[in-house]
Amino acid sequence: RKVYHPVKYSSNLAKFGIKFNEKLMGKAKPVAQELLLDQDHDGKLDYSEIMKALEFDTSKWNVTDDEDIVEENMEFYREVYSKKITEPKFAKLTYNEVIDDKGLKRVLTKDEYPRANATLLTLVRNQELKDIVHTIRQIESTWNHNFHYPYTFISDEQFTEEFKQTVTRHASGDVFFEIIPPEIWNKPKNIDPEKEKAGIKKLEDNGVQYAALESYHNMCRFNSGYFYRLEGLKKFKWYWRFEPKTDYYCSVNYDIFKFMEDNDKTYGFTISLYDDPLTVETLWPVTMEFVKKNPQYVNPNGAFKWLTDSIQNPEYTKKANGYSTCHFWSNFEIGNMDFYRGEAYSKWMDALEENGGFYYERWGDAPVHSVGVGLFEDKSKVHWFRDIGYHHSPYKSIPNSDKCSAPEDSGYFAPKDVYSQNCLSNWVKYEMTYKELQQY
Ligand code: GDP
Ligand code: MN
Repeated sequence: RKVYHPVKYSSNLAKFGIKFNEKLMGKAKPVAQELLLDQDHDGKLDYSEIMKALEFDTSKWNVTDDEDIVEENMEFYREVYSKKITEPKFAKLTYNEVIDDKGLKRVLTKDEYPRANATLLTLVRNQELKDIVHTIRQIESTWNHNFHYPYTFISDEQFTEEFKQTVTRHASGDVFFEIIPPEIWNKPKNIDPEKEKAGIKKLEDNGVQYAALESYHNMCRFNSGYFYRLEGLKKFKWYWRFEPKTDYYCSVNYDIFKFMEDNDKTYGFTISLYDDPLTVETLWPVTMEFVKKNPQYVNPNGAFKWLTDSIQNPEYTKKANGYSTCHFWSNFEIGNMDFYRGEAYSKWMDALEENGGFYYERWGDAPVHSVGVGLFEDKSKVHWFRDIGYHHSPYKSIPNSDKCSAPEDSGYFAPKDVYSQNCLSNWVKYEMTYKELQQY
């Protein structure tokens, strides 16, 4: 069996991070813990090394009949999740708690608390009212009741009075409603109908979900490149995306948006998955063409290994022409919209639009955000929120923490038949530093 395993999975690695890190770095030398805590990322590559790392090179596929890799990676995942955690260490955390004149602790009111420039946001339809309330209640009870961040509800159609009144009643912060102008939401003019039809047929013949649903393609394109350009969102810097019918299981006592701001983060996630490679067949080649013309946009400390891995699902990397399809699952994500508004992401989005893959294929906003962040941002600015317990069917991320309502589910992930779709172990093994691994 010739399988390249970048890390030999040591037992108890979550508890003895130092052993894990030695293997990650490929060195068996004992390193003082304090030195490791000071060490920044080791991935400083020059441009030719970056291009080499990103190149679609068949010799890098490790096509193998190894069936154990999925189970091994799940084993690794469970081990990581078995660690008992609380809040991030080595970080500035802000709580809504002050000592008043009489020396008593109290919480600042909605009007008193100085919030970051941020909004919770969701693209949602009137008919999803019950499911969005289900999720708002959990975000409020686990977190927002302390901070009262505003919500922005976005749709391509007018919200009903019932929708507006009901969500307003459940939100402890201000509430905004934003209707997407049709010229932003609708399919752009440059899409060739014949090519689109052929593309949809190919996806449908291969059982790709939502292939023929135009609104789904609109939604993916909107979430990839447009939500942060809406009039009503221009005033905000930070967003937390949430979706109807998702669950939040753990109490978080610190201000999550201020965590992002004060600790120099751009993007936060909980779950990482592979995608159906047919939906992104040309995303990587189109991106590589862009990158070759504009190498200045690539961050020398990007998440290149995670983006180009070919170990667990080598046939995915092959079908997606060099992209592992690993992505941050974007139905929960926290980000700095100024990153998307910046030159690198904006110019790249123009190139994606010119290509039309949102309609000829079914590029999702999750792989688009992930490739953008992975290439154009420093990976140390990406934060894995281990302390946010999250569920969007069929996947869960549940930490082993006393702050969660179902800690017995920690490390569960999903039903067995979809274990192979879990990509988180790649992020942990390839992209996280020792210090980051020790942060919880
Ligand atoms: P999935 O998670 O990929 O199966 O896709 P969802 O059906 O959950 O859609 C993703 C998000 O976009 C959800 O928040 C939906 O409410 C929203 N969404 C999808 N299609 C539309 C649409 O046509 N109009 C509006 N307003 N929201 C949509
Ligand atoms: Mn969904």
